[in-house]
Amino acid sequence: MSSETASAKSPYGVKNPCIARLKVAHELTRPGATKSTWHYEIDLSGSGMEFTPGDSLAVQPQNDPELVGSIITALGFSGTETVPNPKGGEGTIRDVLTAVSAITEFDGKLLKAVAAKTGDNALLDLTTLEKKDELKKYNLGRDVLDVLNENPAAKFEPAEFIGLLRRLNVRLYSISSSLKAFPDQVHLTIATVRYESRGRQRNGVCSTFFADRVTLGSPLPTFIKSGAGFRLPEPNDDSPIIMCGPGTGIAPFRAFCQERRATGARGDAWLFFGEINRATCFFYEDEWQSYLADGTLRRMDTAFSRDQAQKLYVQHKMLEHGRLLFDWLEHGAIFYVCGDASRMAADVDKALQEIIAKEGGKTSEQALEYLETMKAAKRYRRDVY
Ligand SMILES: Cc1cc2nc3c(=O)[nH]c(=O)nc-3n(C[C@H](O)[C@H](O)[C@H](O)COP(=O)(O)OP(=O)(O)OC[C@H]3O[C@@H](n4cnc5c(N)ncnc54)[C@H](O)[C@@H]3O)c2cc1C
Repeated sequence: MSSETASAKSPYGVKNPCIARLKVAHELTRPGATKSTWHYEIDLSGSGMEFTPGDSLAVQPQNDPELVGSIITALGFSGTETVPNPKGGEGTIRDVLTAVSAITEFDGKLLKAVAAKTGDNALLDLTTLEKKDELKKYNLGRDVLDVLNENPAAKFEPAEFIGLLRRLNVRLYSISSSLKAFPDQVHLTIATVRYESRGRQRNGVCSTFFADRVTLGSPLPTFIKSGAGFRLPEPNDDSPIIMCGPGTGIAPFRAFCQERRATGARGDAWLFFGEINRATCFFYEDEWQSYLADGTLRRMDTAFSRDQAQKLYVQHKMLEHGRLLFDWLEHGAIFYVCGDASRMAADVDKALQEIIAKEGGKTSEQALEYLETMKAAKRYRRDVY
């Protein structure tokens, strides 16, 4: 049975997650970095959970107990009130706010109920379909505690309040290891999300669940989300591959390199990585050096945006080596990109178009067609978020 089939047939899912255990956690970013990114190793022993490089791990996080406590206080509850658990049965409001309901995000349902209690028509208006974009703006940087603090006149019954919240969803992480290199383990590469809004420190639910709350050995509900479109060529297929993974986008390519070393894949591999500074953010540097040394990687190009006066990104390194990159494409290379969807993926796409037009002597329409043909042949694969 191929491992792709195995992950598709995994007995685990959102309703019956695999309870894995955190085994190793260490920070990848070095002192002085303006962000914090961590490497996590999770033990799957005895679970039978399998995956293929390119898959993601879904993790069911828990909310920050301090934020849960502040919400309970703002509501005037003790935390021991019994409420229906949206997943079934009953629980204390503290437990449900910790593990089942979303408290860092909300939708119109909560605002409608608040507006009904306070008579705030402007707030009610925000929940209409026509005000969809304004509601988005209102929600940005606001959490459930903000809504309660801004509307102290809104009083709720415990069960009523829980009924107004969304469900706390799983978060997905690109798997950064191969079972062939690390049997019974799954590795993740996670950037910790922290920012300030409305004078209060905000913490990304799952990334700080890992960074602040999960201790070694503590249970982690997980399951595999298949990345069916994001797959390596078979080991006996000697197509070259080009991997572009700035930031945490590097994660699946660590898994790809481990897999290709283990299977003795023949095709050439080229990796683009980018981050802020080489000194503080060159994730897994030693590993890339060893892949370059043994030929698992044919070449690697890096772009550290703040290491020179002019900002430098992965797309600039692609353009710098446009001639060679186009040669690889002409030799059947598969191009993979993983990471930030908001800007990076579009910049990389534009760079590819430019390279194909310039080096292939094509018009921009022909370059677009070339990329479309690559996509149709599954030679341009994206895993962006
Ligand atoms: C297929 C896939 C693979 C992924 N792989 C990885 C991976 O390998 N590594 C990784 O780190 N992440 C990865 N992610 C992203 C990951 O799933 C989470 O979205 C990320 O960790 C944030 O989750 P969180 O629960 O910590 O933050 P959340 O609680 O979900 O908060 C994040 C939200 O906070 C808001 N926010 C963030 N910054 C600000 C700000 N400055 N001002 C106002 N609002 C802000 C935004 O609305 C943002 O969506 C992947 C996502 C997908 C879909």
